[in-house]
Amino acid sequence: MPERDVPDESSSISHEVAELARMLTRAGKCVVLTGAGISTESGIPDFRSPGTGLWTQVDPMEVLSATAFRTRPEAFYQFILNLCETLQAASPNDGHRAVARLEELGCVDVLVTQNIDGLHQRAGSRNVLEVHGHLRTGTCVKCGRSYDMGGVLDAVRRGELPRCSACKGMIKPDVVLFEDPLPIDFVLAQQAVIESDLLIAVGSSLEVAPVCYLPALASHLAIINLMPTGYDSRAEVVIHDRAGRALSALLDAVRLGSDGNGYSE
Ligand code: NAD
Repeated sequence: MPERDVPDESSSISHEVAELARMLTRAGKCVVLTGAGISTESGIPDFRSPGTGLWTQVDPMEVLSATAFRTRPEAFYQFILNLCETLQAASPNDGHRAVARLEELGCVDVLVTQNIDGLHQRAGSRNVLEVHGHLRTGTCVKCGRSYDMGGVLDAVRRGELPRCSACKGMIKPDVVLFEDPLPIDFVLAQQAVIESDLLIAVGSSLEVAPVCYLPALASHLAIINLMPTGYDSRAEVVIHDRAGRALSALLDAVRLGSDGNGYSE
């Protein structure tokens, strides 16, 4: 039986990486958009990966919605406490570090993240728009007073519901829950994508609205994701690989290119 002609995956990936490095170094302004997939290599499950995604364990609408916060605050806060402990135990991975380094090199202008884990900032990224909020602080739903989440979680560990010391209103984490409006960061992200020459979407199914509309605003689009996305046919470069490996390779290719002895026309 003749041997099947198996494509050499590593060489096609490195071809795509070289092409993306070319696009990146030519782009006047580049935005990177990340999703939960960039953090799975740090041990944080995403939503939709088959078998491991959070949706295989819980229905996020049940626990992470504004309705859940209002009507089942104990269960909501127990989930938030477990989530925060998982996030605090995690460390940035090669993917987060590569994005931070690309920003330092002047190749990435704005990082838009759907993640609430804070790993991009811990890796050194500076210009970060958190379109789904974060878990560093919480806000009293009645008077708007801001609280550090450390104290909020201590109250939950004591079995109490976290309440405002001034007005006794419930404190809500500054994360965007299902049914919540998006913060100003989303408007800034839209603007950044419109003004950019290249959008690189990493580790996102690109299914969560309204962030999933951002790639449609991009003049040039590249995608790094393990699984196919609905935007693959529109993207000029698609890399189906782990974000950590693909972004490290991209960083290497950009460095090599800027030394003048890497990829050429
Ligand atoms: P998603 O779960 O819908 O999609 C994640 C995508 O990443 C999938 O298509 C998967 O194939 C891909 N992926 C998984 N591991 C990967 C890897 N190592 N390298 C490359 N790709 C990988 O996530 P989403 O699009 O971000 O939307 C889910 C929503 O849930 C977002 O709001 C997100 O912020 C939130 N969320 C955040 C975290 C976090 O902060 N780390 C974790 C879970 C969910």
